[in-house]
Amino acid sequence: MAGAELIGKEEIQEVMEVLETGVLMRYEFHEQRKGIYKVARFEEEMARYMGSRYALGVTSGSAALKVALMALDVGHGDEVLVPAFDFIATYEAVLEAGAIPIMTDIDDTFNMDPKAVEERLSPWTKAVIPVHMCGAAARIEEICDVAGKHNLLVLEDNAQACGGSVGGKKLGTFGDMGILSFDFFKTMTTGEGGMVITNRKDLYDRADWYHDHGHDHNPEVGRALEGRAILGFNYRMNELQGALGLAQLRKLDDLIIAGQRENKAFIKEALAGVPGITFRTLVDPAGDTATFLGFSLPDKERAKTFQKVLKEGGVDTICYGENLWHYAPRWEHLIGRATANSKGYPFTNPLYKGKVDYSVEAVPKAEDLMNRSLFIAIPVKMAPERKDAMAGAIKKAASAI
Ligand SMILES: *Cc1c(COP(=O)(O)O)cnc(C)c1O
Repeated sequence: MAGAELIGKEEIQEVMEVLETGVLMRYEFHEQRKGIYKVARFEEEMARYMGSRYALGVTSGSAALKVALMALDVGHGDEVLVPAFDFIATYEAVLEAGAIPIMTDIDDTFNMDPKAVEERLSPWTKAVIPVHMCGAAARIEEICDVAGKHNLLVLEDNAQACGGSVGGKKLGTFGDMGILSFDFFKTMTTGEGGMVITNRKDLYDRADWYHDHGHDHNPEVGRALEGRAILGFNYRMNELQGALGLAQLRKLDDLIIAGQRENKAFIKEALAGVPGITFRTLVDPAGDTATFLGFSLPDKERAKTFQKVLKEGGVDTICYGENLWHYAPRWEHLIGRATANSKGYPFTNPLYKGKVDYSVEAVPKAEDLMNRSLFIAIPVKMAPERKDAMAGAIKKAASAI
């Protein structure tokens, strides 16, 4: 729940300022809006926070992926590497752009394995999308090195680790482009919303045009007379989202991430004595957003028993091997190529010459880890009684395996 737990008077204040002007659109209405440009300010403040040159607000994290792929000119005939452990949106965005998602194995970070990237390359590979799952980084520097060696574009999907970093550099700023999501469950929220991050002016311009019907946003002329270089679509963020984003961004480090880190440390300590437990590898523990705690048990049976006894003690865990939305070999509609297009595009596109494999055999490390690992979602707020109850449930579950 993260940022959604902290919605309060700061968010109300920001949203009220917008409602008082009556202008919900991020562009135009310069007189009526009385100097209030919430989306533009949110973009500025996020760019500063990320240490990136540009940030573009859009309607969702999924939209951000699509807009970034269009800016990068990834499309028909191209392959894009995506991790096997991922939220389905990344695969969908690649298909939306007309390209083919290539499932890639993970490593002990539970994120894309840089070595697997090399194994999955084909003459059609155009881009790599490392995803920083469950609050923590992929081996992003190694992945960028491999991509650089093979001339591939890197788009970081940082929907799940907003505020995370490696070596002090923010996740989402390592690749050519990065994206963030602010949906209701993400580290900070605007209800729905997303952002595209980049340091490159050419990519920013294309994203900016594409997300608003091709408008070049020339400040010298009114909206109706603006120039247009490419056809686009509508993925504009609105002022209410911008207002919420400003309030949430101010809470991100000191309240949201700090709160999660404290609670995660407590739970991790309580789990440390569980026989056979190993914790997810963190590339840079100092840059962990602590949204989730991931750990593995020696085998599936013990993981299941542990999960069951924890559940009886009121503690929920997620086994992503069974979860329907986060592990690609379990997606029957992807495996069946059931796109919304009755002709089967983009899989049947004659421009596409490659071959896809979404079988579990293609990702042996993911298949091993997914079935014997559990994740606990870390709350920002945790009452002392809740901590005690959790520690008790963990003790009981530990003695059951
Ligand atoms: C949530 C999520 C998205 C999509 O974000 P929305 O804002 O929900 O559209 C994309 N990628 C990953 C890894 C996500 O977790």
